[in-house]
Amino acid sequence: EVARLRAALAGNVVTPTDPDYDRARAVWNGMFDRRPALIAACATTADAVAALAFARRHELTIAVRGGGHSVAGYSTCDGGIVVDLSPMKQIDVDPVGRVASAGGGVTWGELDAATQAFGLATPGGVFSRTGIAGLTLGGGYGWLRATYGLACDNLIGAEVVTADGRVIVAGEQDGQDADLLWGLRGGGGNFGVVTRFTFRLHPVGPNVSFAVVFHDGEGDATGRVLRWFRDYCADAPDAVNPIAVCGVVPDDMEMFPEAIWGKRYVMLGALFVGPTDEGERVLRPLRAFAQPLADFSDVLPYVDAQKLWDADYPDGMRYYWKSLNLVRLDDAVIERIVAGARRQPSPLSTTDLWFVGGAVRRGPADGSAVRGRDAVVMLGLEANWEEPADDEPNMRWAREFIAEMEPVSDGSRYLNFAGFLEEGDAALRSTFGAHYARLVELKRRYDPTNRFRLNQNIDPSDQDIASLPSATARLTTLAEP
Ligand code: FAD
Repeated sequence: EVARLRAALAGNVVTPTDPDYDRARAVWNGMFDRRPALIAACATTADAVAALAFARRHELTIAVRGGGHSVAGYSTCDGGIVVDLSPMKQIDVDPVGRVASAGGGVTWGELDAATQAFGLATPGGVFSRTGIAGLTLGGGYGWLRATYGLACDNLIGAEVVTADGRVIVAGEQDGQDADLLWGLRGGGGNFGVVTRFTFRLHPVGPNVSFAVVFHDGEGDATGRVLRWFRDYCADAPDAVNPIAVCGVVPDDMEMFPEAIWGKRYVMLGALFVGPTDEGERVLRPLRAFAQPLADFSDVLPYVDAQKLWDADYPDGMRYYWKSLNLVRLDDAVIERIVAGARRQPSPLSTTDLWFVGGAVRRGPADGSAVRGRDAVVMLGLEANWEEPADDEPNMRWAREFIAEMEPVSDGSRYLNFAGFLEEGDAALRSTFGAHYARLVELKRRYDPTNRFRLNQNIDPSDQDIASLPSATARLTTLAEP
């Protein structure tokens, strides 16, 4: 049967007896060392149809892989089939219509390179090696979000292979499935295998003004810097795409002066979309309001800005990331964040404040499954460490810190940074709020038996969709520290 599948695919099939098996089964997060029965490397839509038919026939667990960078390890499994789209690399750019379409295995680095050839881009993340697939389907927060929205907000079409082998075109045009497009904008990999993504493009760069400024984070300094940045972001134009990161300057990293190795920092980062001289002026306060520890701000090609953090996330290390959308960022909330960040057990971890506003707040005109758009900040905790023996304290840090911040959230989180979704349905319900029922209905339509369950899983058998939590009921006051 495997030989027949291999012969049928334009791509390839890898099994445990193949020399290539260990390379083919590896995923980015070293927490997941799983052994699938086979990896179907799909080069075409027909390959994906055949791989899913094989999975149905043998009742195999299905893991779908785009770029292989799921933090929660969703793109691998034990004993099942990995539908690996990494050979699907075709990219077509229409510079006149400002549209790009890309195969399900394309990474952001690849798509950015193709679109930037025309001075265009669609919002991705802040890292070039993640897949366009998982990031877009989960939402997609990046360096262009305030200006042009989340990655999923710019998804205008998709080709989807459903669990029963149908190929459906999602989109807003006549004959396309608009409901499915809505669900793919943030509803994750619940509805099928997306073999092709079509994105709206915007003028970006090719050179952009980019601030990357490391400020002192010792003592009272972190709170001071974050308060200042909060106020700056509140008045900033949508051309400014800001993030603040609290962490510890790594030892032995020569780009930093040795005197600050091991010190706490607050990194203020922002990418400006527009003329670089205007960007330099608008972003100057980030560098000037206090004497920075280190300042890497520059005018650089957008494609290089997208790669700036690539080296910080090596394959095979241990990662556990959580998030929460905060609806307030007053001084007391900042103090809580500062205190939580200080407790990080690993110096490699960071506490990230993704400011929400501009085009993210407005959302796409034709809607999306994503919620949390009224948040002030998407708080992202990246627990990053090296040794398996340190799993427990690092995961506990992120869990406890997030639990402490729940009272100032709207209950929603960014589901691509949702730990391993240990909270299950409860996290999905509170994230999707009033959208949850529509997602369950879509799931019933496209995957009624839940074949696609290794994801931010919407349970099609959920009978309780009338009793949805009220998002606003959670807005309680943060207790005094
Ligand atoms: P994969 O591991 O390939 O897939 C993850 C899941 O997505 C799959 O299990 C499946 O459920 C679904 N999926 C993938 N491909 C398909 C497909 N073709 N059809 C249907 N379902 C599919 N997120 C941000 O928003 N902004 C960032 O800046 C950002 N930075 C990151 C940096 C790093 C180093 C990492 C590891 C992650 C980052 N993320 C970021 C999170 C990222 O969005 C998710 O990890 C995302 O799942 C990665 O996509 P992928 O295609 O590489 O994942």
